Amino acid sequence: MILIGTINLTRTRDRGSFFCPTCVLNQTYRLRSRRPWLTLYFIPTVPVGGAEFFVQCDHCRSTWDPSVLEMDQQSHEQALEDEFRDQVVRSSVLVVLADGNISENEILALQKIASRMLERVVDRDELGRLCSIAQQNQIEASNYVLTVSRRWSKEQRARALQAMFLAASAEGDMSKSQLEILAKMRETLELSDAEYEAAIEESLGWESV
Ligand SMILES: [Zn+2]
Repeated sequence: MILIGTINLTRTRDRGSFFCPTCVLNQTYRLRSRRPWLTLYFIPTVPVGGAEFFVQCDHCRSTWDPSVLEMDQQSHEQALEDEFRDQVVRSSVLVVLADGNISENEILALQKIASRMLERVVDRDELGRLCSIAQQNQIEASNYVLTVSRRWSKEQRARALQAMFLAASAEGDMSKSQLEILAKMRETLELSDAEYEAAIEESLGWESV
């Protein structure tokens, strides 16, 4: 009598780190493949089906469809965008505070910028808190943007410039310190003259939104 059977063989194809939805943390994973094999006398001889891939968390051992790795990418990008938006609001606040005072028009402009960037209503209380935090840290707008903008994309840099321009021009005339900050931003944000001008021009369209 010939003993015939099947067995599932699992192999590790790749390793990496991902955002595990079970652990709600970044963990290492193994990308594994499982494939049924025909056995003769318990020895795998030929595969009898296609390989099925899955991702396994090294920590909690839960398994996922490989699409979980793309989700990681997406949620990662969303987190970066959220971080960017907070940083733009902080940058705009710092630009306004650069001349040492804040007027009613500037408060309104900052409220508009913050509400647009954070996609929710930012009231005066919240704006006041943002301003006092920014003031306490005593970081200059240019220095702040210089460090945080390293992770910004070209498109994000242009959007940040627009917000800062609107914040600085809320009073119509810019103070000398605000003009200097904005002039310096072209270099800090590594924008060409054309990109810089296009961004400023586009910021005028913010008003209608
Ligand atoms: Zn896990």
